[in-house]
Amino acid sequence: MAAGKEPIPSDAELRFIEAVSSGTVHIAVKYGTYDIARSPQVSAVSSGGSAFIALALHPTVTRCGRRTFPQAEKDHQGTDRFSDDQLCAACYRTLTPEDQERAFEHKQPEGA
Ligand SMILES: [Zn+2]
Repeated sequence: MAAGKEPIPSDAELRFIEAVSSGTVHIAVKYGTYDIARSPQVSAVSSGGSAFIALALHPTVTRCGRRTFPQAEKDHQGTDRFSDDQLCAACYRTLTPEDQERAFEHKQPEGA
């Protein structure tokens, strides 16, 4: 394994976040234990404007270092259907070979 690459834990999920303007799909990792620790705070303020603030405080950070707010903004949206060549190369390079295979476990666009 190359230095600097950490395997994604088996209880973590890969999430795909599309930059709507460019069509590039970035990769973020949702860690199970991390989210369990965070979720009480978020759900406690899940009404009105407070929810937006809670989301803004906890951005989804992509593997290439982009801070996104797919739940609260229009520029980045979660996706599970895209073509392989939309994957962000910088995000992809941070993955171990095993995790790179997981990055291709997504649906293909219809008609592609
Ligand atoms: Zn990226």
